[in-house]
Amino acid sequence: MKTEQSHLFYQSRQPRPFLDYGEGIYLYDVSGKRYIDGSSGAMVSNIGHSNPNVLAKMKAQMDRATFGYRLHFRTEPSEKLAAKVAGLMPEGLDRVFFVSGGSEAVETAIKLARQYAVTQGQGSRWKVISRMPSYHGATMGSLGVTGSPLFTGAFAPMFEEMPKIPAPTCYLDRDNLSEEQRGIKYAEMLREKILAEGPDSVLAFLMEPVGGASTGALVAPDSYYARVAEICREYGVLLIYDEVMTGAGRTGKFLAAEHWGITPDIVAMSKGFGAGYAPLGAVVARNDMVEALLDSGGFQHGFTYAGNPLACAAGLAVLEEMEEHDIIGNAARMGDVLKARLTGLMERYPFIGDVRGKGLLLAFELVSDRETMAVLPKDWNAHVELVELAYERGLIIYSRRTRGGKEGDHFLVCPPLIVTEAQIDEIMEILCDALDAFAE
Ligand code: PMP
Repeated sequence: MKTEQSHLFYQSRQPRPFLDYGEGIYLYDVSGKRYIDGSSGAMVSNIGHSNPNVLAKMKAQMDRATFGYRLHFRTEPSEKLAAKVAGLMPEGLDRVFFVSGGSEAVETAIKLARQYAVTQGQGSRWKVISRMPSYHGATMGSLGVTGSPLFTGAFAPMFEEMPKIPAPTCYLDRDNLSEEQRGIKYAEMLREKILAEGPDSVLAFLMEPVGGASTGALVAPDSYYARVAEICREYGVLLIYDEVMTGAGRTGKFLAAEHWGITPDIVAMSKGFGAGYAPLGAVVARNDMVEALLDSGGFQHGFTYAGNPLACAAGLAVLEEMEEHDIIGNAARMGDVLKARLTGLMERYPFIGDVRGKGLLLAFELVSDRETMAVLPKDWNAHVELVELAYERGLIIYSRRTRGGKEGDHFLVCPPLIVTEAQIDEIMEILCDALDAFAE
C-alpha cells in the first residue's frame, strides 16, 4: 500500500508518509515516527489534534443528526454557534453565515458586500481592491482578489482581475520614514487607488490584517489600520477583513482586528474556527447590511453544506474548549516566547533577515544580505530545502517563496495555540538542527 502509485493528486507529486494519528501538537505516521505540527497543518489545528472533549461533542451530535439541510431545519448547533460567534465579535457585527472553508468565506463576503450595495442603489460599485502580494483563496472569485501570480497564472483570462495596492512590506523599505509614517504611506496608496479607479466604482477593500502565507506573517505599523479604516469610511468603501488565518485566536486575540480596535464591515473566518475537526468557516456582517438583503428578497447565495450541524457542533466545541482553557491567552503568551526565541536565532544565523508576526502567527525570512534584504538565489529553492530538513527531523513548518510584487523565502512557525514552553524548546532544538544542516 505504502509504495503503490497513488491515484490521488494535489499540487504536485509529494510522496509523504501515511498519517496514523494525532495527539495535541504531535502527529504520528504509520512507522511510529513523531512530528511536531509546527504549522498546525496550514494554520488550522489551533487547539491541537484529537481533543477528547471536541470529539465527544461531535460524537454526540453524530448520534443525533449529521446533516439537516438549512432550508428545511434550524439546528441547535448552528444557532448556538452563530450566537457564540456574534458574542465574540466587535460591537455591531452580529449576523453570521456559515461556510465550509476559507475561499467560500471570502467569496461570500464579497457577494454579500455587492448585493448590499445594490440594495442601497449603489449598483455602480463592484471593484474590490486588495493587496499584492496576498492570498484570499483558490476559487475563481477569490482568485480575482488574490495577489499572487503563483496561484492566478494560468487562470488569468477566466476571472475578473481586481485592482491591487502594495502590501505594507515596510521591513524592506530603506527610507528615512518612521514606522508610523510608513504605515500612513502604504494606507494612502488605498486612497490613490480609489481615486484612480473612481470612488463610485469601488465596492470594498479586502485585507488580511496580519499576512498569512503570501507575505509571511506581515504586520503593518499601527497607523496603517486606522488610516485604512478612515479612508474606507470617507469614500463609502466597505472594509472586509480576511481573518481566515488570523481569526479564532491565532494572533492572541479572537480576531486580529481587536489589536487595533477596528470594526470591519464584514469579517471572513475559517481555518482555526473548525480547527481541523470540521470544514467550517463563517462570514460575519453588520446587522443592517443583512437586514437590507433579507428585505430585498434574500441573499442570492448559498452552499449545500453551509451550517451543517456536525461542522457547527465541532466549531462550538472548539470555541468552548478555547474559552475553558484560555487558549487564546496562551497563544498571546507563548507567541511572545516563541517570537523572542526566533529573534534570538538572528545572532546565530546571519541569513535570517527578519522575524515577524503576532501571537502564534510567526515567520522568519531568509536573505543573502541582511543590510539590503536581498533574497537568496531562486534556484537554491531554500523554501523547500529547509522545510525538508526540518521534516526529516520531525518538525513541520510551512514555507513560501512569494511571487509577485515582493519575493523572499519565508517560513511560518505556527504551532497549535495550546503549545507549552517546554514544547517551544523542542521546536527550537529541531529547528536549529535543521538550520545548521541548511547552513552547511
Ligand atoms: N484567505 C486566507 C487569508 C487564507 O490564508 C486562506 C488559506 N490559506 C484562504 C483565504 C483560503 O482558504 P481555503 O484554503 O480554506 O479555501
